[in-house]
Amino acid sequence: MTLLALEDATVAYGRGAAPAVDRASLAVEPGTNLAIVGESGAGKSTILNLLLGLRTPTSGRVLYGDRPLARRDRAMMREFRRDVQCVFQDPYASLDPRRRIAAIVGEPIRSLGIARGDELDRRVASALERVGLPADAARRYPHEFSGGQRQRIAIARATVCEPRVLLADEPVSALDVTTRVRIVDLLADLVASSEMTLVMVSHDIGVVAELCEETIVLERGRIVERGATSDVLGAPRHPYTRKLMGAVPRLP
Ligand code: ADP
Repeated sequence: MTLLALEDATVAYGRGAAPAVDRASLAVEPGTNLAIVGESGAGKSTILNLLLGLRTPTSGRVLYGDRPLARRDRAMMREFRRDVQCVFQDPYASLDPRRRIAAIVGEPIRSLGIARGDELDRRVASALERVGLPADAARRYPHEFSGGQRQRIAIARATVCEPRVLLADEPVSALDVTTRVRIVDLLADLVASSEMTLVMVSHDIGVVAELCEETIVLERGRIVERGATSDVLGAPRHPYTRKLMGAVPRLP
């Protein structure tokens, strides 16, 4: 069954302005990692915000499974928040500096009431281990970690309740090149060893080619090309995709 979908979704931020997302339809299918690429301002983050339930489309629908996502349906939103998690671009801005890693990583579990006490600690420890951090990281604070380690912490938080969908907004763009490779490898391992499906926004074609089977190309809010990543990136049909590829020297 489809995990998440947009059906003819449009987002207009203001009257008179061109829509940020213009009648976009897409489906996130289990096991098919999806990349959304496009230039800055193409509407990629707006699509992620729709898929995260943080923004309601001006017209069209967001589907969660086979049901329209209803932000007022508390039972549905609880399930949704467990199933759909997100990693952001900037690992410095996304972690609260005053909280210990145990509290940061355990937050989704606690707020959803999934576990507490020893069971909560156990789940946090195993989430940290999965992302390659030592168990004693739990007692420390974000400032004690590098950018790459912080992104691991953010990934541990996003995966601690074993979501079905991990949305990632430029998850490695803020990192240096060596760290970038390690985090891409970590995401690849996590996806391969779980039921989780990745939806990633990226302008880095190399990262997209490594992690995602399918690619959607956005231009000024419209989906202009989509298909298997090897086809879209290997033999782009749309002039905009060719232009985008030309702007990024790392071909797959
Ligand atoms: P991308 O992630 O591809 O860079 P965005 O989804 O952030 O693109 O933005 C798409 C368009 O919507 C841009 O023209 C941007 O200026 C506009 N936009 C994004 N967020 C807002 C907002 N909160 N208010 C008004 N306009 C916005």
